[in-house]
Amino acid sequence: MSLVEALRAAGLTEVEDGTRRRAEYSSDASNHRVVPTAVAYPRHTDEVLAALAVCRELGVPLTMRGGGTSIAGNAIGPGLVLDTSRHLTRILALDPEAATATVQPGVVLDDVTRAGAPHGLAYGPDPSTHSRATFGGTIGNNACGAHAMSAGRAADTVVALDVVTAAGDQFTAGPGSAGPVDLWPVVDGALAAIRTGSGRFHRQVSGYSLEHLLPERGRHVGRFLAGSEGTLAVLLEATVSLARVPAATALVVLGYPDMPAAADAVPGLLPHAPRAVEGLDARLVEVVRGRKGQDAVPDLPRGEGWLFVEVGGTSPADAADAARRLAADAGALDSLVVTGADALRLWRIREDGAGLGGRTPAGAPAWPGWEDAAVPPEHLGAYLRDFRGLLDAHGLDALVYGHFGDGCVHARIDFPFADRPRVYREFVTAAADVVAGYGGSVSGEHGDGRARSELLPRMYAPELIAAFAAVKHAFDPTGLLNPGVITDPEPLDATLRVPAARALPSRVFTLPHDGGDLSVAAHRCVGVGKCRADATATGGVMCPSFLATRDEKDSTRGRARVLQEAANGTLVGGLAAPEVLESLDLCLSCKGCASDCPAGVDMATYKSEALHARYRRWWRPRSHWSLGWLPVTARLVARAPRLVNALLGTTAVAALARAAGGIDPARPLPRFTEQTFRAWFADRPVRTGGDPVVLFVDTFTDHFTPAVGQAAVAVLEDAGFAVRVTEPVCCGLTWISTGQLDTARSRLARTVAALDVGLPVVGLEPSCTAVLRGDAEELVPGEAAARVAAATHTLAELLATRTGWSPPDLTGVHGVAQPHCHQHAVLGWEADRALLAAAGADVTAVGGCCGLAGNFGAEAGHHAVSVAVAETALLPAVRAAAPGATFLADGFSCRTQLDQVGGVRGEHLAELLAARLPATGARDAVR
Ligand SMILES: Cc1cc2nc3c(=O)[nH]c(=O)nc-3n(C[C@H](O)[C@H](O)[C@H](O)COP(=O)(O)OP(=O)(O)OC[C@H]3O[C@@H](n4cnc5c(N)ncnc54)[C@H](O)[C@@H]3O)c2cc1C
Ligand code: SF4
Ligand code: SF4
Repeated sequence: MSLVEALRAAGLTEVEDGTRRRAEYSSDASNHRVVPTAVAYPRHTDEVLAALAVCRELGVPLTMRGGGTSIAGNAIGPGLVLDTSRHLTRILALDPEAATATVQPGVVLDDVTRAGAPHGLAYGPDPSTHSRATFGGTIGNNACGAHAMSAGRAADTVVALDVVTAAGDQFTAGPGSAGPVDLWPVVDGALAAIRTGSGRFHRQVSGYSLEHLLPERGRHVGRFLAGSEGTLAVLLEATVSLARVPAATALVVLGYPDMPAAADAVPGLLPHAPRAVEGLDARLVEVVRGRKGQDAVPDLPRGEGWLFVEVGGTSPADAADAARRLAADAGALDSLVVTGADALRLWRIREDGAGLGGRTPAGAPAWPGWEDAAVPPEHLGAYLRDFRGLLDAHGLDALVYGHFGDGCVHARIDFPFADRPRVYREFVTAAADVVAGYGGSVSGEHGDGRARSELLPRMYAPELIAAFAAVKHAFDPTGLLNPGVITDPEPLDATLRVPAARALPSRVFTLPHDGGDLSVAAHRCVGVGKCRADATATGGVMCPSFLATRDEKDSTRGRARVLQEAANGTLVGGLAAPEVLESLDLCLSCKGCASDCPAGVDMATYKSEALHARYRRWWRPRSHWSLGWLPVTARLVARAPRLVNALLGTTAVAALARAAGGIDPARPLPRFTEQTFRAWFADRPVRTGGDPVVLFVDTFTDHFTPAVGQAAVAVLEDAGFAVRVTEPVCCGLTWISTGQLDTARSRLARTVAALDVGLPVVGLEPSCTAVLRGDAEELVPGEAAARVAAATHTLAELLATRTGWSPPDLTGVHGVAQPHCHQHAVLGWEADRALLAAAGADVTAVGGCCGLAGNFGAEAGHHAVSVAVAETALLPAVRAAAPGATFLADGFSCRTQLDQVGGVRGEHLAELLAARLPATGARDAVR
């Protein structure tokens, strides 16, 4: 019987061994690649026990997984991977009095923090991945985070763990209780080695934390199991303590000449009992500014290395006082005390550090592998100096940051995996010796996994290494659970992903930041998993398909993994393989990842390339013709729009048209306008005077919503512009999103030539405007495309350049705005926000994507997901809006979705402004 058959026979229903699924689970957030035999999603504890029994019977290794954000290859394995994050997500109890929570292993940390918030409680340890990391994985790794220095590590929060051993013995691991495991003889036989070698400082996370088993430490088996990385037992339920949220906090930013100098200052800060002390390299801030704009990071104090220090207080004033006292004592070049939203913004930059550090300032890929070593804080400055010397000696570079208060240093290093993978081994072994020399730990919070287990003998005495092996044997004598990790380790360079990848030269997009190689681009994804978190409340967009389906397949990361496997070629047979198509099917091409993924994965672009590669030799889906060629069809329809509308208005013809065009039966067909915008524009009297501006007339404005164009003309003329239009040209968006890239390129080349006239260009449809400003330079590279990109503006951006003009009064306007996802990713919505605020409107922007996203929501089979995406943020906001609300949406897709799914009329910014222009003539223009 195969593994999958045996699992199904044992009652598991969600078991998969397809190549796509195995590709998705072939890595975590590490450099390592181990393809599992199968992946299963247990629906309840009994299914975990059943899966374990099957593995035991068949001798198949079992690796547990939560969010899969481990950086050291801790959550990958060759046999069965059991993912608890889909179903085992219940908070079983929250006791405000005792300040504890009992959770299933798949519960995400932030969910408990949210549940605890009304009681002033939160889960204390906060790995940067707290929005998607689970309790199973957090306890599995003994994760820490910025606040671990005050709130403790995951191990410190463990009250009791319900676990099952490889043999199937279930017990509650707590003080003194090891169930049927014959643990104590091992411990008692190694007491001296444990006392001198284990638990020497707070961030000694490597190896097994045997110190918790010492009699004088209460022999807490639950705490000991934290950090055992799923190698000793499977966690079924956990009871953890929660931390009290302080009444107020303040952030002090301290500037130092460099990172070692910042590190030297840390011990002097500790008497102030800070809640967190984080280090941040100036070069990392430059990377953030380079990627997200100069304004992305507020001005920081003078210096090249900063400490971000959080202090608590009984009130905001008390916290600010404590902050100032600490700053006065810090020996810094300069300092800044920040509170409220600014502090949150700075913390977010720090949390994105690992992803942003995925490139060196020179743009080279930088990797984990030596990313969380820790030394006692008093040695941190010396360690950092040695570390820099070691990097230089190996010709490497890294951006440094980390939990300096605890002596834990994060670094992403530009290991030359592709051409000289040996450097990796040489560097990490040398670095392990340096760390051990300072009494440090090769892992300070991420665990050992496949990256560091081999290094443990460099920091631990042989007696302790022997004790680790004996403990493993006591719990898991046959080596069923996560083999190759901690004991009997796999060589640290045996399963590296990047050296095994081939190039996948892109055919059309130039991918200038990835050397034109889709393989390099896909390997930007290090697996951080931010694409599995819901950031819509803070305006984020990535990744709407995952938020709708909650399936790893539909996350940006899942897709990147499949593309990486396409580059590897041993599991997935290249870019045109069916697994790639399946993986990309529910990608909305919303570009949310292009801006929100800290590693800069731009899946919409990779999808275009993959569709282009696939359909060079295969017959395209019908929707690629009907929706991809819409600009051409619309121009043909413009000859007899009434007839076409009448025909499409009949049920039978509409059904036929949908079937022929691969359109979802649930999707109403849009009506073509009877007078196009261009026809209207050509008919109106020529206006003279004003500063010339080119209005880019997109297909949607021209053929479906000319009122938007007419409103824009009114507003632009009111602002003193003389509007011009070009010959009919198209940005090629519909061909780009359907992967018809040769056609897209030829259309775009004409468009760029038509727009390159030395005048500002204003676009009304955000997705088309985003092509002119973004994709064009990668599809038709050259100076003309660069000039057009620089000249292209959104309406709000262009209006912001009119210093003497003020917008019409929008006092009393209230409601909801859905910034188009491409606007969010490429153009930004800040100018719109500022314009609306200046005009007196009270409009709240929602995050996420509307769910229609061009062709996506119209395509057959996508309707349910399209609606589920809309339900993430937009539709709840529509339902919650006060009576008389305005629904602002510049995207034709977003307005269509609002109309068809939300049951409300969406307005373009141009329409909102034009309807309130003071001049009656202008108002007439829009009627
Ligand atoms: C960008 C980035 C930043 C990070 N920042 C931090 C940080 O600040 N601090 C920090 O400590 N870590 C950090 N991490 C590492 C990681 O995110 C954390 O350790 C996190 O808590 C892991 O949770 P997870 O659910 O993703 O675990 P997974 O990766 O799924 O699993 C972690 C380990 O636990 C085991 N495991 C999972 N479930 C079970 C179970 N039910 N029973 C037994 N074993 C189980 C797995 O086998 C694996 O060995 C970071 C990672 C990334 C990518
Ligand atoms: S796609 Fe981006 S956000 Fe998602 S895991 Fe990969 S690197 Fe992280
Ligand atoms: S383009 Fe949008 S849907 Fe596709 S992977 Fe990126 S964020 Fe997700």
